[in-house]
Amino acid sequence: MTRTASVTGPILSLFGTPLKLFQFLAGLSPRLDAKSLNGEVQKWAVRQGGKCEADRWRPITVCYGLEKGEHFGDGGTTIGNTFLNDVPPSELRKEVLYHELQHTTQFEFYYKKFNFWPTFLVYYTYGTGLSRGCANVYEREADLQGNLYHC
Ligand SMILES: [Zn+2]
Repeated sequence: MTRTASVTGPILSLFGTPLKLFQFLAGLSPRLDAKSLNGEVQKWAVRQGGKCEADRWRPITVCYGLEKGEHFGDGGTTIGNTFLNDVPPSELRKEVLYHELQHTTQFEFYYKKFNFWPTFLVYYTYGTGLSRGCANVYEREADLQGNLYHC
C-alpha cells in the first residue's frame, strides 16, 4: 500500500530501519509458512541484486551484495533462516554467523506465535534504531548464545 509506505517511510527512516526490507516484509502474506517465507526472502534478495548461498554446515543461507540501510540494518539482518548483508559467506566472521544462527532459532520459535507480524517483525527490524544492540530483547537473547555484543 503506497499510502502506508508514504506515511511510515519518513518515520521509519528516523529509526534507521531498512526501508526496502520493511516494505517487502509488509507486503508479504501473514499466512506464509516458514519455508515459504525463506524462499520469498531469498527471491527478493536476488531481485534486489544480491546473491544467496546456503551454508554447507549450518541451517542458514547468506544473501550478500545488498545495501545497508535499504536491504538490511547495521551488520546485517536475519529473516527466517536467511541472513541479509553485504559480505559473502566466505568473508563472514564466525562470531557473526553464529550470532545470526541464534536469530534463525528465534524465528523458528516466534514465527506464527504471539501475534508475530505486528510485534516481532516490526520490533526486530527496528533493531538498528532505538532498540539497537543490547537494548533489543532479541539481540540480548541471541547474545546469550552468540556473544557478539557482549550484553
Ligand atoms: Zn543480532
